[in-house]
Amino acid sequence: MSLRELSEEIRHCKKCRLSETRTNALCGEGNLNARIMLIAQAPGEKEDAQGKMFIGPSGGVLDELLGAASVNRENVYMTNLVKCMLPKYRKPKQDEIEACSQYLDKEIELVDPQFLVPLGYYASRYVFEKYGLPAPSRKEFREIYGQLLWTGEKKLFSLQHPAAVLHDSSIGDIMTRNYRKLGILKIDCKWAPT
Ligand code: SF4
Repeated sequence: MSLRELSEEIRHCKKCRLSETRTNALCGEGNLNARIMLIAQAPGEKEDAQGKMFIGPSGGVLDELLGAASVNRENVYMTNLVKCMLPKYRKPKQDEIEACSQYLDKEIELVDPQFLVPLGYYASRYVFEKYGLPAPSRKEFREIYGQLLWTGEKKLFSLQHPAAVLHDSSIGDIMTRNYRKLGILKIDCKWAPT
């Protein structure tokens, strides 16, 4: 299966209740040969309305954070754990994650990035569990954001979701510091395999 075929399947998917409230189900977008894959939680209202990734307020924050790391959208592939909007920005339910995550699994297989960068708690927890790492509690994840981990198969680099700073401006500095490290992951150097 190609990414184009996967995108088409996602667009018509009705495997869970979120298909009833969405306008657009979003496959990921960006550089198909990217070293870095950003994995957000789910599309927001603007993304749902226009069928594009990160075009709402959190997209503006993401662009600023990437800019601070000298990374741009063309350097990365961006996708979501859950492909349809969550009504009223509620949390994803476990059965919705289970129904949808096969699409993310397929994207990881097709793009095959070196670094998986889940954004926020739900995407991070899913990726940890997928690669057999014990998933920390929601509170403990704050300590893991910005740390590079090796699963034996992929390198994981969890970051706070850009929307987090819209709710708590006090974390802006630490988020900027953590996102700046993406600038190092972007570079292909002889130490990268280690
Ligand atoms: S959230 Fe995922 S599984 Fe549910 S309808 Fe949308 S694409 Fe399908």
